[in-house]
Amino acid sequence: MIPYGRHLHHDAVPGVAALEVSDLTVAYPDGRTALREVTLRVPAGQRLALVGPNGAGKSTLLKAVAGLLNPAAGRVRIYGQPVGHCRHRVAYLAQKGEVDWRFPISVRRLVLTGRYVHLGWLRRPRPADRRIAEDVMQRLGIAHLADRQIGALSGGQQQRVLLARALAQEAELLLLDEPTTAVDVDTRQVLTGVLDELQSLGRTLVVATHDHARRDAQYNQIVYLREGCQVHLSPERPSDPPPAHSLEHNHAHPA
Ligand code: ADP
Ligand code: MG
Repeated sequence: MIPYGRHLHHDAVPGVAALEVSDLTVAYPDGRTALREVTLRVPAGQRLALVGPNGAGKSTLLKAVAGLLNPAAGRVRIYGQPVGHCRHRVAYLAQKGEVDWRFPISVRRLVLTGRYVHLGWLRRPRPADRRIAEDVMQRLGIAHLADRQIGALSGGQQQRVLLARALAQEAELLLLDEPTTAVDVDTRQVLTGVLDELQSLGRTLVVATHDHARRDAQYNQIVYLREGCQVHLSPERPSDPPPAHSLEHNHAHPA
């Protein structure tokens, strides 16, 4: 993701959904169409689960919303704006297997990269950014690993680091690709606790997940994908009323 400065920041269109995806079709350069005419809408503060077997298109959908893949057809709107107009509002957590864990970077530095979108090119993290990174590492139980290289971590620790990076961004819309898949019990508990907390803070979550037990209870909507097609959309379950300190309309941009 390319960091960008405040000058490219566009305000949210008042009253619109956090995410609107209309007839989205995405193809890879080899010609394979990985997603066909998917439509969904996530009001601010809601949690949506993307479910489906391997190869269904979950990751492709999240990447298109994150601006990492261009649609072949259809449209994505984030707070009413095209992808890329409000990048600091959107945090993307890649599927763990897609990250190059041999990359030589410490846990602390990787978590700090979550702040870059607020800084622009070549601007150094400020003390406030460092504090936020320390706080999220603490919250995720990885503060003691801050100086470790990311390649020297267990799978569960790596998953915590990815979520810490996403949290450090303080985004309103979080795109999380299998954040709790194949982790140890402790890590799962910590991660799901953080997801619940985010929702109670009014954040919007789109989560590719295999977690059957929790997804029925915790999600407002479930989108089922198979071979790139949307096969079913669960009825929308209203969430609790948004808290008074909802982040949607008065996000203070810290740049
Ligand atoms: P899921 O996350 O649900 O497992 P993906 O979005 O990763 O599904 O994949 C959807 C389809 O796109 C699959 O058929 C997969 O093989 C294909 N695909 C994924 N990444 C690429 C790529 N970089 N190039 C070509 N095809 C890809
Ligand atoms: Mg995937």
